[in-house]
Amino acid sequence: MSLDIIQRICTKSGCYATNVRQKALPPAQQSSDYRTFYGQERPLLILHSLGCARDSADVQAEQWDNPNGQAIAHACVDARDGKTRQTLPWDFRGWHAGQAGNNVAIGVEMAESLSIRYIGRTDRFEILDRNKARANCETAYNGAVELFAYLCQMFGVDPLAKREINGKLFPEVLGHCEWNRIRGVSGHTDPEHYWTQLGMPYTMDTFRQAVKAKLEQEQADGPIYRIQVGAFRNRAYAEAYLARVQEHFPDAYIKSSDE
Ligand SMILES: [Zn+2]
Repeated sequence: MSLDIIQRICTKSGCYATNVRQKALPPAQQSSDYRTFYGQERPLLILHSLGCARDSADVQAEQWDNPNGQAIAHACVDARDGKTRQTLPWDFRGWHAGQAGNNVAIGVEMAESLSIRYIGRTDRFEILDRNKARANCETAYNGAVELFAYLCQMFGVDPLAKREINGKLFPEVLGHCEWNRIRGVSGHTDPEHYWTQLGMPYTMDTFRQAVKAKLEQEQADGPIYRIQVGAFRNRAYAEAYLARVQEHFPDAYIKSSDE
């Protein structure tokens, strides 16, 4: 597995601080949005593309790591090296897809090429260097496939499965564009607007197929090695121990045997 996840948790972001506050409360006292996200069986996985000419996930993380920021995803895939910068622990509720989306989904952004220039505040762009832009796009796409295969394994998501939410059927791995399209909400055409305008042979369907193929390949490659640091009957002891582990490894999380 050539997956690389670089920890760049945005502990200065308002979103991170809000999650820390919410997680310290008993579930009954958490705000319903956060309780919904923490309490779900497994998250949807939403793929985004930044919608601005920024190829560096480090620069994006810098933008997000801000107490006054209004948006932050769980990770950004770099368009130069294809590696993931993880910006929130996976079990924190992010701010990337509106209230309803944030309640049910982990969000991942792909950085875009510097060789494009957006036209005003639209989703249209000019292409300054077509070969370079397409190479950056391919790098981010392949990095996102690796990351989503990893997330599917971690959370037990089948990339080709669908789930009903409020009477509508959503792919468990989906693009921000699909999240809005299925709900009948306009705006947010990412990531397909980026692929289409660059003439790439990518759609959310090819993405899901690629994630599925990657998962099957990894299963054929052999076992995954997980790290465990404790086991408790009492949830409160587990929470207290987790808080200590998270001082060093912020994306550590609890997995219950009845989940
Ligand atoms: Zn988006």
